Amino acid sequence: MHFESLNIIEPILKSLKEEGYTIPTPIQVQAIPIVLQGTDLIGCAQTGTGKTAAFAVPILQLLSRNKSFDRKKKIRSLIVTPTRELAIQIEESFKAYGRYTGLTCTVVFGGVNQNPQTRALQNGVDILVATPGRLLDLMNQGFISLKDIEIFVLDEADRMLDMGFIHDVRRLLAVLPQKRQSLFFSATMPPEIVKLAGSIVYKPVKVEVTPSASTVDIVDQFVYFIDRGNKNSLLLELLKDEKIKTALVFTRTKYGADKVVRVLKKKNITAEAIHGNKAQNARQKALSGFKAQTTRVLVATDIAARGIDVDDLEYVINFEIPNISETYVHRIGRTGRAGAKGTAISFCDAEEKEYLRDIEKLITKKIKVVQDHPFPLIDNNPVKPVKQQFNKRTPNRFGSSKNLIPDRRNHNR
Ligand code: AMP
Repeated sequence: MHFESLNIIEPILKSLKEEGYTIPTPIQVQAIPIVLQGTDLIGCAQTGTGKTAAFAVPILQLLSRNKSFDRKKKIRSLIVTPTRELAIQIEESFKAYGRYTGLTCTVVFGGVNQNPQTRALQNGVDILVATPGRLLDLMNQGFISLKDIEIFVLDEADRMLDMGFIHDVRRLLAVLPQKRQSLFFSATMPPEIVKLAGSIVYKPVKVEVTPSASTVDIVDQFVYFIDRGNKNSLLLELLKDEKIKTALVFTRTKYGADKVVRVLKKKNITAEAIHGNKAQNARQKALSGFKAQTTRVLVATDIAARGIDVDDLEYVINFEIPNISETYVHRIGRTGRAGAKGTAISFCDAEEKEYLRDIEKLITKKIKVVQDHPFPLIDNNPVKPVKQQFNKRTPNRFGSSKNLIPDRRNHNR
């Protein structure tokens, strides 16, 4: 199937072509016709499935049908998403797909000076992308009115709950016009999310793509059992491999992220951290350096990495195994995007074996264990501290680190 068969108007088709999209992803095939009909929608899909275009394309098309010719534009569509990075990416997508529609879009999020945002709003916009806190703040100050909203999107609803935004969302719902089209997206659908969805959408159609399965099938996954104290050394060893042009490394804590960055920089590997303690401008700078490949390694915590979308990112490294299994799927979903190839590498110490078991249960798949590496797990007793590198073999045995990451062709998938 091609985008043409989804009855998309020419100006949007043209920009999609320029983006290099020819074939719609499964969520796009399902969602675009429903949204175009004006029906409410519940989408069970995560970032990485092409979800943004699944709502942005039909919203742009619907708003183009009856463009507002008021001198001052009114906000006609609102997209609320939990993190700043995701908000910025969604705005970029609207601008890219809508570049020939004449519709305007802007983004507001916290952590930065509000003046450029309020200036953009005062010029008038058709589409607003926002994180909940700054949105409410600017509404309270009178810079934003939601009374003309025709289409409302709540994105990553499960993350909204996790991040404690539920009250903000409820406050928003109270002021949104009753007569509107609502699109509700979430990667998972636990009962409290279903309940939240029920309070937002009206006679919705549910569309679902199986993110766990698709991500899990596309991405090559390996686990290295290792003592905690040797993880830095293994990371440095892996990064000797030049086929890793860029890598997104996940740590559990902000402190841990900064520590890994220091270790890498000491070895002249360009690296930046991205986490909640960093100012928004520093986070954006780190992300753009990584996208431009001037920074080879981006070290991130889960919250900050939510929604990071880097074209051609092939390697995700779990420096620590997440204790929530779904987080693993989100992390590895940063690679293998839209059908591209991806490799996820996890460092697992004795204490984390239990998390690994949970992950394997969730993805219903065994992650391939790389046995032959210089720092095999020796200390199976997690309580006893492990001396750094006490079990290091001579690096010569491996010469260059070429064999450290198994070739995708050489293992059974
Ligand atoms: P999303 O799930 O919206 O974050 O999209 C994931 C990635 O897939 C982004 O890099 C998009 O640019 C890309 N993408 C979305 N739709 C398509 C498509 N139909 N063909 C190719 N790439 C796409």
